[in-house]
Amino acid sequence: MKIALVSYEVFPFAKVGGLADVVGALPKYLEKLAVSPVVFMPKHKITEDNAVKFSYKLEKIKENLEIPFLNTKEKFDIYLSKIPGSNVPVYFISNNYYFSAEKVYDGPDLAEQAIYFSAAVLESIKALNMTFDIIHVNDWQTALIPVYLKTLYADNELFKKTSSILTIHNLGYQGIFESKYMKFAGLPSFLYDINGIEFYGKINFLKGGILFADVINTVSPTYAQEIQTKEYGEKLDGVLRLRTSDLYGILNGIDYDVYNPETDPRIYVNYSINDLNKKYENKRKLQEELNLPVKDVPVISMISRLVDQKGLDILADVFRYLLLLDVQFILLGTGDEKYESMFKTLANEFPEKVSANIKFDINLAQKIYAGSDMFLMPSRYEPCGLGQLYSLRYGTIPIVRYTGGLADTVKEYDEKNFSGNGFGFKEYDSAYLLRSVAKAVDFYENKKVHWKKIVENAMKSDFSWDRSAREYVKLYERAKSKKQ
Ligand code: ADP
Repeated sequence: MKIALVSYEVFPFAKVGGLADVVGALPKYLEKLAVSPVVFMPKHKITEDNAVKFSYKLEKIKENLEIPFLNTKEKFDIYLSKIPGSNVPVYFISNNYYFSAEKVYDGPDLAEQAIYFSAAVLESIKALNMTFDIIHVNDWQTALIPVYLKTLYADNELFKKTSSILTIHNLGYQGIFESKYMKFAGLPSFLYDINGIEFYGKINFLKGGILFADVINTVSPTYAQEIQTKEYGEKLDGVLRLRTSDLYGILNGIDYDVYNPETDPRIYVNYSINDLNKKYENKRKLQEELNLPVKDVPVISMISRLVDQKGLDILADVFRYLLLLDVQFILLGTGDEKYESMFKTLANEFPEKVSANIKFDINLAQKIYAGSDMFLMPSRYEPCGLGQLYSLRYGTIPIVRYTGGLADTVKEYDEKNFSGNGFGFKEYDSAYLLRSVAKAVDFYENKKVHWKKIVENAMKSDFSWDRSAREYVKLYERAKSKKQ
């Protein structure tokens, strides 16, 4: 089966968040399952800067290509590389006007940029005379591709047997723009309709993808259900319900080779499920490095973007009560000023209990995953969530709000039959958050045998890419069968 994955971010060529990890890892695992994946992405400025750091080469293979139906004369080149450590080809769309910003999600005009990229991918497939069973697009920036496939490219021989899949990584970002972009995109005017890409007097790229992709999925089964409700649907719940029979949820995986406490070079001391004392050596070293008293109290950590989505408002409500418990709290994160200053203030006021690290630091993140006892993720919504997966892998017990991917990966510990790998609460409410933390602390302090079991259960949970990639192959087969 031949698959083209299309994304704005792919690790290591350009990474902003989890999307890059998914599209960087998934094709490597697909390759092992006898699927032939290729990747298309923009050649961002950072892609050139990263070439030395990650030792890959970019080779120009086509130049001066035009997109006849777009209202622009901009031309593009195609570059080729490979995902390091694999044979997966990566094709880069290169255009200096659209893709020269320092940041991945920046540029002179984000709507034109996404339209240009989407159309350029399809024109590249033509120019390279390739055919695919599936074009797998990701998020709103690439969501017009399924729309083009069913309209302007509908009669093109090369695409006759091509199905499309849209993966929604976060419904909070949809690509909503003025209707004038219909003309730039060369899209037929009948699409400017409630049953097309029109959205409250504007146009919505993600809506186009949802309506026109053959199959849609999101990054966890629970989030796939939640987004069909008004509460989580971000005004697209109705459209998603229309597609309910083609809407799936597949959990993201994590790279079990890179995120392995037995070999991870970024942590203080390597350890396994059989020598957890070494995990506690990591804890002592972490306390030392962050100037917290070195002692045996539960260390609760949080590594997160500091934005409303992550449940910081309910945490703020009860933080001072939480500190009445005999615990230490470590934060690593950046984001909204109000939350950054909240954590700085708390760290100043409680230097023996709170360490606030307002920065982005992937090495410190690993030390925190290894050296903490508990990991807090009280998200308002969470499409999949990676933090809880890393913490499970390192035997650090997640305390989560049971929503989206958190509900699918963290199971409440049940002392009757020693099952479960964490703690959590359902209602988005600070009192429940506090109660969950207190429950976890009680287990840590007073039920040592159970605590050891929880840590073992956490470390035995399987959220590797092998598992997710097999699910994606099933999804591809489902999409393919729609064209037969
Ligand atoms: P989201 O993609 O919504 O930000 P996820 O939990 O899916 O949330 O992924 C966030 C990832 O980014 C995690 O792997 C987390 O460890 C990492 N991360 C977040 N903030 C920081 C930071 N300040 N420093 C290092 N890593 C961070």
